[in-house]
Amino acid sequence: STLIHTSNIYQIQQQEKLADRLTGIASMERVFFCNSGAEANEAAIKLARLYGRSKGIGLPTIVVMEGGFHGRTMATLSATANPKIQAGFEPLLQGFIRIPYNNVDALETLTDNPDIVAVLFEPIQGEGGINIAADSFLSDVRAICDRCGWLMMLDEIQTGMGRTGKWFACQHENVVPDVMTLAKALGNGVPIGACLAKGKAASLFAPGSHGSTFGGNPLACRAALAVIEVIEQESLVDQARQHGQYLLDSFIQSLAGTDSVVEIRGKGMMIGIELDRPCADLVKQALDKRLLINVTAINTIRLLPPLITTTEQCDQIVSILTGLIKSF
Ligand code: PLP
Repeated sequence: STLIHTSNIYQIQQQEKLADRLTGIASMERVFFCNSGAEANEAAIKLARLYGRSKGIGLPTIVVMEGGFHGRTMATLSATANPKIQAGFEPLLQGFIRIPYNNVDALETLTDNPDIVAVLFEPIQGEGGINIAADSFLSDVRAICDRCGWLMMLDEIQTGMGRTGKWFACQHENVVPDVMTLAKALGNGVPIGACLAKGKAASLFAPGSHGSTFGGNPLACRAALAVIEVIEQESLVDQARQHGQYLLDSFIQSLAGTDSVVEIRGKGMMIGIELDRPCADLVKQALDKRLLINVTAINTIRLLPPLITTTEQCDQIVSILTGLIKSF
Protein backbone atom coordinates (compact mmCIF):
# COMPACT_ATOMS: atom_id res chain seq x y z
CA SER A 1 0.00 0.00 0.00
CA THR A 2 3.03 2.28 0.09
CA LEU A 3 4.86 3.18 -3.11
CA ILE A 4 8.46 2.04 -3.17
CA HIS A 5 9.08 3.94 -6.37
CA THR A 6 7.62 6.84 -8.24
CA SER A 7 8.86 9.03 -11.05
CA ASN A 8 11.18 11.77 -9.92
CA ILE A 9 8.89 14.35 -11.49
CA TYR A 10 6.73 13.98 -8.34
CA GLN A 11 7.40 15.24 -4.87
CA ILE A 12 8.85 12.46 -2.68
CA GLN A 13 8.36 13.19 1.00
CA GLN A 14 10.90 10.66 2.28
CA GLN A 15 13.52 12.22 0.02
CA GLU A 16 12.81 15.67 1.40
CA LYS A 17 13.01 14.39 4.97
CA LEU A 18 16.28 12.62 4.28
CA ALA A 19 17.73 15.69 2.58
CA ASP A 20 16.80 17.74 5.66
CA ARG A 21 18.45 15.25 8.03
CA LEU A 22 21.60 14.87 5.95
CA THR A 23 22.13 18.56 5.31
CA GLY A 24 21.59 19.11 9.04
CA ILE A 25 24.18 16.61 10.28
CA ALA A 26 26.68 17.49 7.52
CA SER A 27 26.20 21.31 7.60
CA MET A 28 25.47 21.25 3.88
CA GLU A 29 22.61 22.83 1.90
CA ARG A 30 21.37 20.67 -0.96
CA VAL A 31 21.45 16.99 -1.94
CA PHE A 32 21.32 15.02 -5.18
CA PHE A 33 20.34 11.40 -4.53
CA CYS A 34 21.59 8.45 -6.60
CA ASN A 35 22.17 4.74 -6.09
CA SER A 36 25.87 4.19 -5.38
CA GLY A 37 29.16 5.77 -4.42
CA ALA A 38 30.45 5.96 -7.97
CA GLU A 39 27.30 7.80 -9.02
CA ALA A 40 27.65 10.23 -6.13
CA ASN A 41 31.19 11.03 -7.29
CA GLU A 42 30.00 11.31 -10.91
CA ALA A 43 27.60 13.99 -9.71
CA ALA A 44 30.45 15.75 -7.89
CA ILE A 45 32.67 15.63 -11.00
CA LYS A 46 29.84 17.03 -13.13
CA LEU A 47 29.29 19.78 -10.56
CA ALA A 48 32.98 20.70 -10.70
CA ARG A 49 32.90 20.86 -14.49
CA LEU A 50 29.75 23.02 -14.49
CA TYR A 51 31.42 25.27 -11.96
CA GLY A 52 34.46 25.62 -14.24
CA ARG A 53 32.30 26.25 -17.30
CA SER A 54 30.39 28.92 -15.38
CA LYS A 55 33.74 30.67 -14.90
CA GLY A 56 34.62 30.30 -18.60
CA ILE A 57 37.26 27.58 -18.07
CA GLY A 58 37.59 25.43 -21.21
CA LEU A 59 39.24 22.33 -19.66
CA PRO A 60 38.02 22.27 -16.07
CA THR A 61 40.53 20.22 -14.12
CA ILE A 62 40.10 18.44 -10.78
CA VAL A 63 43.03 17.73 -8.46
CA VAL A 64 42.94 14.13 -7.18
CA MET A 65 45.39 12.21 -5.00
CA GLU A 66 47.74 9.25 -5.19
CA GLY A 67 46.19 6.29 -3.38
CA GLY A 68 42.68 7.66 -3.96
CA PHE A 69 39.70 5.48 -4.86
CA HIS A 70 36.47 6.95 -6.18
CA GLY A 71 34.66 4.17 -8.04
CA ARG A 72 34.58 2.21 -11.27
CA THR A 73 32.54 4.24 -13.75
CA MET A 74 34.61 5.91 -16.49
CA ALA A 75 34.90 9.26 -14.72
CA THR A 76 35.47 7.83 -11.27
CA LEU A 77 38.04 5.24 -12.38
CA SER A 78 39.87 8.07 -14.13
CA ALA A 79 39.90 9.93 -10.81
CA THR A 80 41.05 6.76 -9.01
CA ALA A 81 44.80 6.28 -8.59
CA ASN A 82 45.20 2.52 -8.91
CA PRO A 83 46.41 1.64 -12.46
CA LYS A 84 44.96 -1.87 -12.08
CA ILE A 85 41.49 -0.38 -11.91
CA GLN A 86 42.15 1.66 -15.06
CA ALA A 87 43.96 -1.00 -17.11
CA GLY A 88 42.10 -1.98 -20.25
CA PHE A 89 39.59 0.86 -20.05
CA GLU A 90 41.69 3.59 -21.65
CA PRO A 91 41.29 6.23 -22.94
CA LEU A 92 40.65 7.67 -19.51
CA LEU A 93 38.66 10.82 -18.96
CA GLN A 94 40.76 13.99 -19.18
CA GLY A 95 40.67 16.75 -16.63
CA PHE A 96 42.37 15.24 -13.58
CA ILE A 97 45.78 16.15 -12.07
CA ARG A 98 47.18 13.84 -9.41
CA ILE A 99 49.32 14.90 -6.45
CA PRO A 100 50.66 12.92 -3.48
CA TYR A 101 48.22 12.50 -0.57
CA ASN A 102 48.76 14.72 2.44
CA ASN A 103 51.08 17.06 0.54
CA VAL A 104 50.08 20.70 0.90
CA ASP A 105 53.21 21.89 -0.92
CA ALA A 106 52.25 19.87 -4.00
CA LEU A 107 48.83 21.55 -3.96
CA GLU A 108 50.43 24.98 -3.54
CA THR A 109 52.48 24.45 -6.71
CA LEU A 110 49.19 24.20 -8.65
CA THR A 111 47.66 27.41 -7.40
CA ASP A 112 48.60 29.37 -10.52
CA ASN A 113 47.06 26.75 -12.87
CA PRO A 114 44.01 28.56 -14.30
CA ASP A 115 42.23 25.31 -15.30
CA ILE A 116 41.82 23.94 -11.79
CA VAL A 117 38.28 24.04 -10.44
CA ALA A 118 38.22 21.56 -7.56
CA VAL A 119 40.10 19.18 -5.29
CA LEU A 120 38.60 15.72 -4.69
CA PHE A 121 39.91 13.32 -2.05
CA GLU A 122 39.06 11.04 0.88
CA PRO A 123 39.68 12.26 4.47
CA ILE A 124 40.98 8.73 5.14
CA GLN A 125 41.92 6.64 2.11
CA GLY A 126 40.23 3.25 2.49
CA GLU A 127 41.19 1.27 -0.60
CA GLY A 128 44.54 3.09 -0.59
CA GLY A 129 45.49 1.39 2.71
CA ILE A 130 43.94 3.42 5.57
CA ASN A 131 45.99 6.56 4.92
CA ILE A 132 44.80 9.21 7.35
CA ALA A 133 44.91 12.90 6.47
CA ALA A 134 47.53 14.68 8.57
CA ASP A 135 46.15 16.82 11.41
CA SER A 136 45.84 20.09 9.52
CA PHE A 137 45.60 18.75 5.96
CA LEU A 138 41.87 19.32 5.56
CA SER A 139 42.02 22.87 6.90
CA ASP A 140 45.04 23.62 4.72
CA VAL A 141 43.21 22.36 1.63
CA ARG A 142 40.13 24.34 2.71
CA ALA A 143 42.23 27.52 2.94
CA ILE A 144 43.83 26.97 -0.50
CA CYS A 145 40.42 26.23 -2.06
CA ASP A 146 39.02 29.44 -0.55
CA ARG A 147 41.99 31.48 -1.73
CA CYS A 148 41.89 30.07 -5.28
CA GLY A 149 38.11 29.80 -5.69
CA TRP A 150 38.25 25.99 -6.04
CA LEU A 151 35.59 23.58 -4.78
CA MET A 152 36.72 21.36 -1.92
CA MET A 153 35.07 17.99 -2.61
CA LEU A 154 35.32 15.22 0.00
CA ASP A 155 34.60 11.60 -0.80
CA GLU A 156 33.14 10.37 2.53
CA ILE A 157 31.67 7.24 0.97
CA GLN A 158 33.74 4.95 3.19
CA THR A 159 34.44 7.34 6.08
CA GLY A 160 30.95 8.83 6.49
CA MET A 161 27.92 7.88 8.58
CA GLY A 162 29.73 7.54 11.88
CA ARG A 163 32.46 5.12 10.85
CA THR A 164 35.38 7.22 12.13
CA GLY A 165 33.74 8.35 15.37
CA LYS A 166 32.14 11.51 13.96
CA TRP A 167 29.22 11.62 11.57
CA PHE A 168 31.72 12.60 8.87
CA ALA A 169 35.52 12.37 9.06
CA CYS A 170 35.96 16.06 8.11
CA GLN A 171 34.26 16.94 11.41
CA HIS A 172 37.36 15.79 13.30
CA GLU A 173 38.97 18.95 11.90
CA ASN A 174 35.79 21.08 11.88
CA VAL A 175 36.14 21.52 8.15
CA VAL A 176 33.05 21.82 5.94
CA PRO A 177 33.64 21.03 2.26
CA ASP A 178 31.73 22.54 -0.68
CA VAL A 179 30.75 19.07 -1.90
CA MET A 180 30.53 15.79 0.03
CA THR A 181 29.70 12.37 -1.39
CA LEU A 182 28.09 9.52 0.55
CA ALA A 183 26.93 5.95 -0.11
CA LYS A 184 27.86 2.57 1.47
CA ALA A 185 26.60 2.84 5.07
CA LEU A 186 24.02 5.48 4.16
CA GLY A 187 21.42 2.79 3.40
CA ASN A 188 23.09 0.06 5.48
CA GLY A 189 22.74 -2.37 2.58
CA VAL A 190 19.92 -0.72 0.65
CA PRO A 191 21.50 0.96 -2.40
CA ILE A 192 21.57 4.75 -2.07
CA GLY A 193 24.18 7.42 -2.72
CA ALA A 194 24.15 11.17 -2.18
CA CYS A 195 26.07 14.18 -3.40
CA LEU A 196 25.73 17.05 -0.94
CA ALA A 197 26.61 20.63 -1.82
CA LYS A 198 26.75 24.02 -0.18
CA GLY A 199 27.45 27.62 -1.08
CA LYS A 200 28.49 28.22 -4.67
CA ALA A 201 28.33 24.47 -5.40
CA ALA A 202 24.68 24.25 -4.33
CA SER A 203 23.22 26.41 -7.09
CA LEU A 204 24.94 24.79 -10.10
CA PHE A 205 22.51 21.97 -10.93
CA ALA A 206 19.23 23.22 -12.36
CA PRO A 207 16.31 20.97 -13.32
CA GLY A 208 17.54 18.81 -16.20
CA SER A 209 21.29 19.17 -15.45
CA HIS A 210 21.46 15.73 -13.89
CA GLY A 211 19.04 12.96 -12.96
CA SER A 212 18.47 9.37 -11.93
CA THR A 213 15.37 7.18 -12.28
CA PHE A 214 15.82 5.35 -9.00
CA GLY A 215 17.92 7.95 -7.17
CA GLY A 216 16.08 9.15 -4.08
CA ASN A 217 13.25 6.64 -4.32
CA PRO A 218 10.96 6.41 -1.27
CA LEU A 219 12.19 2.96 -0.19
CA ALA A 220 15.91 3.81 -0.24
CA CYS A 221 15.30 7.16 1.45
CA ARG A 222 13.18 5.57 4.18
CA ALA A 223 15.98 3.04 4.75
CA ALA A 224 18.57 5.83 5.07
CA LEU A 225 16.28 7.72 7.48
CA ALA A 226 16.03 4.56 9.59
CA VAL A 227 19.83 4.25 9.53
CA ILE A 228 20.21 7.79 10.89
CA GLU A 229 17.52 7.15 13.53
CA VAL A 230 19.18 3.95 14.76
CA ILE A 231 22.68 5.47 14.76
CA GLU A 232 21.30 8.30 16.92
CA GLN A 233 19.14 6.16 19.23
CA GLU A 234 21.98 3.73 19.92
CA SER A 235 24.72 6.44 20.08
CA LEU A 236 26.69 4.53 17.50
CA VAL A 237 28.88 7.47 16.48
CA ASP A 238 30.25 7.76 20.03
CA GLN A 239 30.46 4.00 20.27
CA ALA A 240 32.48 3.85 17.03
CA ARG A 241 34.89 6.38 18.51
CA GLN A 242 35.24 4.52 21.83
CA HIS A 243 35.32 0.96 20.54
CA GLY A 244 37.59 1.98 17.65
CA GLN A 245 40.08 3.48 20.10
CA TYR A 246 39.79 0.35 22.23
CA LEU A 247 40.54 -1.84 19.19
CA LEU A 248 43.48 0.34 18.17
CA ASP A 249 44.98 0.37 21.68
CA SER A 250 44.49 -3.39 22.01
CA PHE A 251 46.26 -4.07 18.71
CA ILE A 252 49.12 -1.74 19.60
CA GLN A 253 49.54 -3.67 22.85
CA SER A 254 49.10 -7.19 21.46
CA LEU A 255 51.33 -6.64 18.43
CA ALA A 256 54.08 -4.73 20.26
CA GLY A 257 57.47 -6.06 19.25
CA THR A 258 56.12 -7.97 16.22
CA ASP A 259 58.81 -7.40 13.57
CA SER A 260 56.54 -7.71 10.53
CA VAL A 261 54.25 -4.89 11.71
CA VAL A 262 55.20 -1.54 10.17
CA GLU A 263 52.36 0.58 11.55
CA ILE A 264 48.96 0.30 13.20
CA ARG A 265 46.74 3.27 12.44
CA GLY A 266 43.09 4.20 12.40
CA LYS A 267 40.25 6.45 13.43
CA GLY A 268 37.08 5.02 14.95
CA MET A 269 36.06 1.76 13.33
CA MET A 270 38.45 2.17 10.41
CA ILE A 271 41.73 0.49 11.20
CA GLY A 272 44.77 -0.49 9.15
CA ILE A 273 47.62 -2.78 10.16
CA GLU A 274 50.50 -2.36 7.73
CA LEU A 275 52.90 -5.27 7.43
CA ASP A 276 56.32 -5.33 5.82
CA ARG A 277 55.17 -7.85 3.21
CA PRO A 278 52.20 -8.60 0.92
CA CYS A 279 49.53 -10.21 3.09
CA ALA A 280 46.49 -10.99 0.89
CA ASP A 281 46.76 -14.63 2.08
CA LEU A 282 45.63 -13.50 5.53
CA VAL A 283 42.12 -12.84 4.19
CA LYS A 284 41.52 -16.59 3.66
CA GLN A 285 43.28 -17.53 6.89
CA ALA A 286 41.03 -15.14 8.83
CA LEU A 287 37.95 -16.40 7.02
CA ASP A 288 38.82 -19.93 8.13
CA LYS A 289 38.67 -18.58 11.68
CA ARG A 290 35.32 -16.90 10.89
CA LEU A 291 36.77 -13.39 10.88
CA LEU A 292 36.08 -11.13 7.89
CA ILE A 293 38.97 -8.82 7.01
CA ASN A 294 40.37 -7.31 3.84
CA VAL A 295 43.82 -6.41 2.61
CA THR A 296 44.27 -3.18 0.67
CA ALA A 297 47.33 -1.59 -0.91
CA ILE A 298 49.02 -5.05 -0.90
CA ASN A 299 50.52 -4.81 2.61
CA THR A 300 47.74 -3.37 4.77
CA ILE A 301 45.12 -5.34 6.66
CA ARG A 302 41.96 -3.26 6.64
CA LEU A 303 39.36 -3.61 9.38
CA LEU A 304 35.94 -2.00 9.03
CA PRO A 305 33.98 -3.70 11.81
CA PRO A 306 30.27 -2.94 12.14
CA LEU A 307 29.52 0.07 14.36
CA ILE A 308 27.55 -2.25 16.67
CA THR A 309 30.65 -4.34 17.49
CA THR A 310 30.87 -4.88 21.26
CA THR A 311 34.10 -4.69 23.28
CA GLU A 312 33.92 -8.49 23.75
CA GLN A 313 33.84 -8.86 19.98
CA CYS A 314 36.75 -6.39 19.71
CA ASP A 315 38.70 -8.70 22.04
CA GLN A 316 37.89 -11.66 19.78
CA ILE A 317 39.02 -9.73 16.67
CA VAL A 318 42.29 -8.77 18.35
CA SER A 319 42.95 -12.25 19.63
CA ILE A 320 42.29 -14.03 16.30
CA LEU A 321 44.14 -11.51 14.15
CA THR A 322 47.13 -11.13 16.46
CA GLY A 323 47.63 -14.91 16.36
CA LEU A 324 47.43 -14.95 12.56
CA ILE A 325 49.82 -12.00 12.12
CA LYS A 326 52.39 -13.44 14.51
CA SER A 327 52.45 -16.75 12.69
CA PHE A 328 52.27 -15.25 9.16
N1 PLP B 1 34.60 6.10 -3.00
C1 PLP B 1 35.15 5.41 -1.98
C2 PLP B 1 36.04 6.10 -0.99
C3 PLP B 1 34.91 4.04 -1.86
O1 PLP B 1 35.47 3.35 -0.86
C4 PLP B 1 34.04 3.41 -2.80
C5 PLP B 1 33.79 1.96 -2.74
O2 PLP B 1 34.60 1.19 -2.23
C6 PLP B 1 33.49 4.19 -3.82
C7 PLP B 1 33.79 5.52 -3.89
C8 PLP B 1 32.58 3.58 -4.85
O3 PLP B 1 31.35 3.25 -4.27
P1 PLP B 1 30.38 2.21 -5.01
O4 PLP B 1 31.02 0.87 -4.97
O5 PLP B 1 29.09 2.28 -4.22
O6 PLP B 1 30.19 2.71 -6.42
